[in-house]
Amino acid sequence: MVNNQCELRADWTLQPSEENVSEATTEIERVIIVGGGSAGWMAAAALANDLGSSCDITLIESEAIGTIGVGEATIPPIKFFNQRLGIDEPTFVRETNGSFKLGIEFIDWSRKGHAYFHPFGQYGAEFDSVPFYHYWMREHLAGDATPIDEYSMAWAAAKAGKFSPPSQDRRNIQSTFDYAYHFDATLYAAYLRKYAEARGVARIEGRVTNAQCAAENGFIKSVEMEDGRVFEADLFIDCSGFFGLLIEKTLETGYEDWSHWLPCNRAVAATCEKTSDIVPYTKSTAKSGGWQWRIPLQHRTGNGYVYCSEYLDAEDAEKELVSSLDGAAISDPRHLRFVTGRRKKFWNKNCVAIGLSAGFMEPLESTSLHLIQYGILRLLALFPDKTMSPLLAEEYNALTEAEYERIRDFLILHYTATTRDDSEFWRYCANMPIPERLEYKIDHFRTHGRIVSDERELFSNPSWIAVYLGQDIVPAQAPAMTRHRKAVPVADRMAAIRSAMSEAVAAMPTHEAFIERHCKSALQ
Ligand SMILES: Cc1cc2nc3c(=O)[nH]c(=O)nc-3n(C[C@H](O)[C@H](O)[C@H](O)COP(=O)(O)OP(=O)(O)OC[C@H]3O[C@@H](n4cnc5c(N)ncnc54)[C@H](O)[C@@H]3O)c2cc1C
Repeated sequence: MVNNQCELRADWTLQPSEENVSEATTEIERVIIVGGGSAGWMAAAALANDLGSSCDITLIESEAIGTIGVGEATIPPIKFFNQRLGIDEPTFVRETNGSFKLGIEFIDWSRKGHAYFHPFGQYGAEFDSVPFYHYWMREHLAGDATPIDEYSMAWAAAKAGKFSPPSQDRRNIQSTFDYAYHFDATLYAAYLRKYAEARGVARIEGRVTNAQCAAENGFIKSVEMEDGRVFEADLFIDCSGFFGLLIEKTLETGYEDWSHWLPCNRAVAATCEKTSDIVPYTKSTAKSGGWQWRIPLQHRTGNGYVYCSEYLDAEDAEKELVSSLDGAAISDPRHLRFVTGRRKKFWNKNCVAIGLSAGFMEPLESTSLHLIQYGILRLLALFPDKTMSPLLAEEYNALTEAEYERIRDFLILHYTATTRDDSEFWRYCANMPIPERLEYKIDHFRTHGRIVSDERELFSNPSWIAVYLGQDIVPAQAPAMTRHRKAVPVADRMAAIRSAMSEAVAAMPTHEAFIERHCKSALQ
């Protein structure tokens, strides 16, 4: 397919059209994206939206290779990506058979028979200069048994099977929660493909077999297809998934392996029929050799078992998954392999890796599509010209590396803070050494009930609180300031918050009714 700025010459080399060749320019004129999974089409859509017709964008994908086809749960910032592209929410949810997500329920993680909820949004409401959760800790340590969940609007709505978007009025208790989506990632990519092609992105079908680099600096000049076609560009975006076709096979960038901290390296996924109302949250259940996800969509439920091959073999994982499905299986189980970690450089020479080609930290907190989103937005913010200033790549790599590490540590927290010792896998997790920075954060919370929050932390304080407390890390004492503020009517304020929340939740529609009214898919 040829877009309106390019023509395919007889020698199959993608060339700028006549009016573009007359003047030499340092601006990027041609971008090639290799890969058409979520990463590739999210990148194509965002680049087409921001660059307009100033640049030729070509996406190459191979239907024969296909996409990973999983990736159905997200976190709240995805809303901003869609908004930036001008995609309205009801259309998006309808087109992707989506549902709404208020958080994740973690079952059997800290110990068997125990569950906790990681909600989107805050706990309680601020009524003093001392944060709400500090007061909650004070009361909790003094014997008040009210779980912190009862101060979360997201938890209350999720457990009642209710949903409506938060209020914009910050004085309203309904403004204290946030939400994301569950959706069919394949349909999302298909939707973004339509969006990108309508804005001039050219799609080439076929398998890339090779890439040519310039002798003088090792920059990628072109990619070659199985049928001999050659496509040149100034900037290459590697969205080829775990293959890492350009970033690794061509540029040999290297991979930092994090298996010793995040040992799961396999998954088996299967979809089943919908048998009950669509709950507005993801379920994550810890199992003997890893954990299992349950993601409800409008027309079906996505399930998968993420495990470590050292402790569980594929056949047993599949059996365990299939026997726990709560509806008739729709698809045959699909087995996937991965190594948790990240590429040593995300931007190397004139190639930027986005998506699974950049790294993967397993889907425990649904962060992969988020990392794609921010990879794209960061690239747009640091968009280079043909001189490819190494400073831009350096900044991109530093920011992305820090973001990966912050997310990594949050994920490790779920595993390290377990008291399970009923399988070799959990014994390994409970005893593995962890990054120093995470150890420091845990020490602060355990000792003083304080959250050490790094600047730009994706998971803000309430998320850390949810997982610390949920994983049974209870502070020895509440922060000292709570003991100085004796005049603050804490118990009254807390009771008022609980009562405002139950009133608000009672008035919300059910999740099913909300979908039915606003964004029901044709398949439901
Ligand atoms: C078990 C599991 C569960 C997950 N769950 C979640 C989740 O709940 N939430 C979340 O945010 N993320 C999740 N993810 C991650 C998510 O699936 C990916 O981040 C997302 O789908 C992006 O994948 P991708 O586009 O990078 O790669 P892929 O989907 O693998 O796409 C790669 C593309 O490259 C093309 N390609 C490869 N080689 C060539 C070649 N030689 N020539 C031409 N084309 C080529 C392929 O055809 C394909 O189009 C999960 C991942 C796994 C493994």
